[in-house]
Amino acid sequence: AEVDFSELVSRISDRLQLHSCNTQQIIKADIEPNIKIYGDAFTLASVVTNLIENAVKYSEPCAEVNVSLRQIDSKVVFVVADHGTGISDEEKMFIFDKFYRVGAENTRRTKGTGLGLFIVKEVLQQHDAEIVVKDNVPQGTIFEVTF
Ligand code: ATP
Ligand code: MG
Repeated sequence: AEVDFSELVSRISDRLQLHSCNTQQIIKADIEPNIKIYGDAFTLASVVTNLIENAVKYSEPCAEVNVSLRQIDSKVVFVVADHGTGISDEEKMFIFDKFYRVGAENTRRTKGTGLGLFIVKEVLQQHDAEIVVKDNVPQGTIFEVTF
């Protein structure tokens, strides 16, 4: 079915904002309206939720997270960028594996099953979409999804 992806990303950004840092604005969303994607609204919502939750979870409390959605010709690009711990180049290739979590220190500090990005990758494959991980400047991580 056709999903209003702009609406979906806005709604999830707003909801996670409320849970993240009281009244302080930490999720900065820049969302082009009326972007439509053919797919499943429920599983696409889990992709958006997982990526934004990770960005918040692996950052300092109340650090800014940037969410953007835009359409360039027939391509839809969804980006979540944080200024958190970052992911080393060696670990970037494993983070989409089932149950994988980076580093002992990280694992003690935060809770998780290591399933989030595994599910993200599966759902994106079903939607013929691609995901790339890049380093943010001066620190942190950028996840870029292209439909
Ligand atoms: P779950 O999402 O199942 O609750 P999780 O967050 O540990 O648990 P994933 O979302 O699959 O699992 O992420 C795998 C690992 O990748 C994380 O444990 C973390 O080490 C690393 N990671 C994911 N997103 C980020 C990010 N934005 N910044 C830094 N590290 C990240
Ligand atoms: Mg996660």
